[in-house]
Amino acid sequence: MTQEPADPFDWIRESSRRRREAGLDRALRYRDATSSLVDLASNDYLGLTRHPDVTEAAAEAARRWGAGSTGSRLVTGTTALHGQLEEELAEFTGFEAALVFSSGYAANLAALTTLGRAGSLIVSDEGNHASLIDGCRLARARTAVVPHRDPAAVRKALASHQGPGLMVTDSVFSVDGDLAPLDRLSQECRARGAALVVDDAHGLGVLGEGGRGAAHAGGLAGSPDTVSTATLSKSLGSQGGAVLGPARVIGELRNAARTFIFDTGLAPAATGAALAALRRLRGEPERALRVRQVARTLHRRLTEAGLPATPPDAAVVSVPAPTPEAAVRWAADCRERGLWVGCFRPPSVPDGISRVRLTARADLTDAEVDEAVTTLVATAPPVGGPAREY
Ligand code: PMP
Repeated sequence: MTQEPADPFDWIRESSRRRREAGLDRALRYRDATSSLVDLASNDYLGLTRHPDVTEAAAEAARRWGAGSTGSRLVTGTTALHGQLEEELAEFTGFEAALVFSSGYAANLAALTTLGRAGSLIVSDEGNHASLIDGCRLARARTAVVPHRDPAAVRKALASHQGPGLMVTDSVFSVDGDLAPLDRLSQECRARGAALVVDDAHGLGVLGEGGRGAAHAGGLAGSPDTVSTATLSKSLGSQGGAVLGPARVIGELRNAARTFIFDTGLAPAATGAALAALRRLRGEPERALRVRQVARTLHRRLTEAGLPATPPDAAVVSVPAPTPEAAVRWAADCRERGLWVGCFRPPSVPDGISRVRLTARADLTDAEVDEAVTTLVATAPPVGGPAREY
């Protein structure tokens, strides 16, 4: 008798059942092109993704250069737009040089796999973004994960290692919006001759003078031991990523980073849009001030209403919910009343606490902020200590 062959994906049945039972199943929802919802869920911090200059730059770049970049950056995938964007990004943020990637994720993998060489140690904050965690996993260096925002733990980890060291941290942590203590982390790194890599995905366009980012705000931009990474998909309203740093580091990435060499270059439309958005930001520094002001207002009004909102150091405000189901219900109730908020559940939250996450936007009116607060308060689950799911 021939035996039925085993089903190679049988394990998925059990895994999806467990996920459903824990209230953690995820589904995609198609958004409409236009919407009457007040948006506190997207990463369009400066309201630039639909700015006519930005969309026109995308369209013009596609007409001129084509829909795709046609190849990897080192072969046919580099246009004059890529060069211009790299030059202006470096100039704006205060770094010597920049390299553009097809995503912020790819930029982070590039920075960590290239700089985290065999024999070196990467010290990584436990709250870091998934792309940094994956960068550590792919790097040939050893990784030490340290407690959240803890310079003393960074010192200890660096001191425990003989070879070269590197510390990596988000500038603004994406779940709660809290800031890394960059000045103290930089001091610890310098005391040990280690490099500091800062993921400024949520800082570019929001922090520092005119939105020049966290490294610029902390006086670290342009220093020989500091590297920053960024996404073009949040404040710059487009898509893509970048690494910013000393010219010799950028040169090394261009020659050795696998996500640069083996990945198709960023599409011309995305490149042109990011460049137009960057120029808009440079010309309108008040956008960075406004997004921070909206975040502070959201936080103040929510805490006055008794909700345990996290203090906003940048543009992100989070409010814990008692369970994943409560977070999902809260977000759905908001949506029904015209407000779009993010819902974060495990495994996207490192501490297992589900939340609604609000991202401030520079183009929200005071009336919209008011309305958002009223909706959030009216639909909030009963206040109690947030429960850990695991
Ligand atoms: N780092 C952080 C902190 C992020 O929040 C994100 C985007 N979610 C990324 C990196 C990745 O950027 P991208 O979406 O451009 O790949």
